Amino acid sequence: MTSTQQQSQTAEEIEQYDVIIIGAGVTGLYALWRLRQLGFSAHSFEEGSGVGGTWFWNRYPGCRFDSESYTYGYSFSEELLQEWDWKEHYSGQPENERYLNYVADKFDLRRDIRLNSRVMSAVFDENENRWEVVMEDGYRARGQFLVTSVGILSAGYVPEFEGKDSFKGVSCHTGRWPQEGVDLAGKRVGVIGTGASGVQLITEIAKEVSHLTVFQRTANFCAPLRNSPIDDETQREIKENFPEIFKKCLETPGSFVHEFDPRSAMSVTPEERLEQYERLWQKSGFAKWLSNFYDVMMPGEANEDYAEFFRNKIRERVNDPVVAEMLVPKTHMFGSKRLPCESGYYEVFNQDNVLLVDVREAPIERITPAGIKTKDAEYNLDVIVFATGFDAVTGSLNRVDIRGEGGQTLKDKFANGPRTYMGVQSAGFPNLFTINQASVGNFVRAAEPLVDWVTEAMAYVRDNEYSLISASPQAEEEWTQHVADAGAKILRSQADSWFVGANIPGKARGLLTAPDTAPVMRAKRDDVAANGYEGFLLQ
Ligand code: NAP
Repeated sequence: MTSTQQQSQTAEEIEQYDVIIIGAGVTGLYALWRLRQLGFSAHSFEEGSGVGGTWFWNRYPGCRFDSESYTYGYSFSEELLQEWDWKEHYSGQPENERYLNYVADKFDLRRDIRLNSRVMSAVFDENENRWEVVMEDGYRARGQFLVTSVGILSAGYVPEFEGKDSFKGVSCHTGRWPQEGVDLAGKRVGVIGTGASGVQLITEIAKEVSHLTVFQRTANFCAPLRNSPIDDETQREIKENFPEIFKKCLETPGSFVHEFDPRSAMSVTPEERLEQYERLWQKSGFAKWLSNFYDVMMPGEANEDYAEFFRNKIRERVNDPVVAEMLVPKTHMFGSKRLPCESGYYEVFNQDNVLLVDVREAPIERITPAGIKTKDAEYNLDVIVFATGFDAVTGSLNRVDIRGEGGQTLKDKFANGPRTYMGVQSAGFPNLFTINQASVGNFVRAAEPLVDWVTEAMAYVRDNEYSLISASPQAEEEWTQHVADAGAKILRSQADSWFVGANIPGKARGLLTAPDTAPVMRAKRDDVAANGYEGFLLQ
């Protein structure tokens, strides 16, 4: 069936489930498995033509983990852990997608997933106490509970450049990279955006394009990923040590294997400080900041000291001092934006066929049929890549018309920022769990316990013969205030980025992810459950 053929079902034909899940990405797949274990009938509706979510859509060249592969995979099945071999320390998108397909097959999840099913609306029926979802093709399904596993970063954002649709060449967004790929070999390519996606993409495509123009608004602090294949001995060690690896991840603030040095950078001599910076610089992945002196990730002297170390590393790698200074970040604190990991990014700007354009100095005025026109010049291009990010967290919820009690929409309710209790529920939207809001850091490590908690909450409702669970308005008010208060203090709220909605014109500013560290979030959720789901109304 094509998406244009409308489905129509009689009331009797509408499938009824205990739980409807929107999405079959990392959290949707796991939620499906967990719900089955708990004896629920559950069904996932997925917009893509395949499973994998983020790892299905973000198939741009160079896309890969920058969490260690073996810390990112699921932990729920010892069998899965032992039989899946991650081939690289930081695995690329093709393998990550294969992994999630392997999981879907191994646990026979596909029979409860409807692909090519973009959910357009989800409406709470107050007479029946059930949610009804309607897909783009008109297909309907109903469930007692609704779980939005729609991802934190899945609603792509393309700025409203004048003339956007007039471009005669090929254009695409990194987060919706065509499945058939984009032919870039020998082409003149322009990339707008130098966040984690842009940095990965630019480094990879610079190897094949005839000319590359990078339109940068804000220079970022990027650090070497130092990816490498996993040899057999390391593979054996990893497999023997999964319990320790996951235990460590559970203990750290962002659920990574890296642990902060409890010393202040300023408590040691400048020589010792530099020795530590240089030692960590040689390590792979996020060790460079998450294993560093604890205060490099706090506003202040240590942060600026480490930022300057980073800036000098960039200067050492770029031949032209003018270009080097354009690539050196000066407008935000180190760590206040997500740090991209790179594999030769800065050296790209030493290539003769690569041009860096500062669009803060000379903003993009419009897209033309032939390319991009800035205040200073026009650039003729065959391909434009928008690496311009995402309408984070609320963007993917807003793509579904979600209506709760009294017909109120979640979009209206969140117009000035999300109002939730624990990031998982919003008052007036009973039995709806917005699972994409509450986790950040090493995603799967934080998301697995969250899915466990949410699914157990549903089992509690069922086993105690309630039919509804909803956040109390008071608990929601207090949590929302806590997010505002705690959020204002943390480093990643200090810059203009997706973490606080500042990348989207007109979006209310406020922390969109969990306000507490992963261990604190888990402890708070556990306390709520232990106290009979305190803060929730049960009927
Ligand atoms: P992003 O970090 O939001 O970066 C978007 C880029 O587009 C920024 O450089 C931004 O500039 C630029 N931009 C936006 N609007 C613009 C405009 N009107 N004119 C010029 N430039 C504009 O998005 P992203 O790179 O897709 O990354 C988003 C998140 O996805 C990351 O923070 C990370 O959490 C995740 N991610 C993870 C991985 C991984 O794990 N390996 C890989 C990729 C992405 P400004 O900085 O000036 O706003």
